[in-house]
Amino acid sequence: MRLRAPLALAVGAPLAGIVVLLLVVVADAPVAAGVAVVLVAGVAGALGAFLLLHRLRVDVEEPVIELREAVVRLGVGEPADAVLRSHGGPLSAVAAALESAAASVDSRTGQLVSRAEWGESSRQILDALDFTDDEPAAFEVVSRALALADDQLPSELLFSPAEAPNVLEQVAANSATGSPGCPVQDPANCLAIRRGQVVVAESSEAIDACPQLRGRPGGPCSSACVPVAVEGRSIGVLHVTGAERNPPTPTVVARVSELSRQVGGRLSALRALESSRQEAGTDGLTGLPNRRILESQMKSMLDAGTGFVSVMADLDKFKSLNDTFGHEAGDRALQLFARVMQDNVRGHDVVARVGGEEFVVVYPEMSVQRSIEAIERLRTALASEVAVAAARPFTCSFGVTHSSVGTTVAEILRVADAGLLRAKELGGDQVVYADQALAQEVFDPSDPDPPNRGR
Ligand code: GH3
Ligand code: MG
Ligand code: MG
Repeated sequence: MRLRAPLALAVGAPLAGIVVLLLVVVADAPVAAGVAVVLVAGVAGALGAFLLLHRLRVDVEEPVIELREAVVRLGVGEPADAVLRSHGGPLSAVAAALESAAASVDSRTGQLVSRAEWGESSRQILDALDFTDDEPAAFEVVSRALALADDQLPSELLFSPAEAPNVLEQVAANSATGSPGCPVQDPANCLAIRRGQVVVAESSEAIDACPQLRGRPGGPCSSACVPVAVEGRSIGVLHVTGAERNPPTPTVVARVSELSRQVGGRLSALRALESSRQEAGTDGLTGLPNRRILESQMKSMLDAGTGFVSVMADLDKFKSLNDTFGHEAGDRALQLFARVMQDNVRGHDVVARVGGEEFVVVYPEMSVQRSIEAIERLRTALASEVAVAAARPFTCSFGVTHSSVGTTVAEILRVADAGLLRAKELGGDQVVYADQALAQEVFDPSDPDPPNRGR
């Protein structure tokens, strides 16, 4: 608009001069009049051209230079200059468009960087899982991997132990944010496991939301539940919660889904390895016979009418030892314990590892009294070995019973287990003798499964 007046002057004045000059010629007017017209038109045209050039410099050249500088600033991440935006009109629109383009490039770059970082983390998680040689070690990796997938939202892994497929227990929690505390205890009650599909809920209060989400202490929430398949069956779930109506983003769900595939793959391999070890009859970590071998030896003794004392042993507060000093320290503690037990039994006694930190000693043809003395000696030996070799002192509880309390291996082990449970109730680090009466007291007689989960 500001260019129109000088442009009109620069073009209009010479044109008007020419027209007036023609009229002067046609009207046969004096030459002086023609010269005056040419002079006035020429000066006016020159003035118009000067003003036009001036306006072009002020309105176009200078803003273009500013625009170039603003683009350079945007390029290094600074905002487009306020001066540029204050120009108003098309230039400020260009500045705004440039800023929005820069913001969009920023966000796309952020996404690409985050994708690249996750790609790297994901490779590291896979390597870390490959290093694990049992399930607790894999769960430790999952706790840290969940924090890599998202370090803002609480998340956890709930999983069915091999020995209790109808139980779902929390085995890993996000190492940065902690656990969302899903109360589900039975895989059949988990929607994601039942469907074998990812389930995302906007609000725990929605009519179709998972009932396990309702009434959480933290109030209403959103959630994403990703099933974990092991050997082709969903037997675990990765569970993430967020604010109500703001569920975990598709990026988080994609990361957790990838983690689920990685963990499922590793746990499948570990379970296959464990079943081949079970077949072989030996526990890989301690070299002790496993439950299968133990039970067949106990059965042979029962069949042969050989009386024996059965001792169920479980390390005290072993989870906290693992949590504080790491899984490898836990493994070393288990190896140390196995060695101390073997060093303190006679040749025909049997020592077996029957679970994570659970062992059984069988003393054939020994009285309960003498076996309790033997275990007390074992406890003393353990205390002195542990003081020298272990990262942190640890103790063990024992439940003792005689084979005469039952007619089957399961019955005898159940009574020994009752003694162990009572030893734990009394504070651990002790030996408790159990008979059927104690087993009745400790276990609900109508419950065929001893309540020893989590011990
Ligand atoms: P309690 O005194 O009641 O027995 O408590 P606890 O912590 O010993 O028992 P809990 O059952 O809560 O935890 C057992 C832990 O043993 C959990 C698991 O991480 C650990 N564990 C099981 N198997 C292994 C293993 O092979 N190596 C290591 N390092 N830890 C294991
Ligand atoms: Mg224990
Ligand atoms: Mg235990």
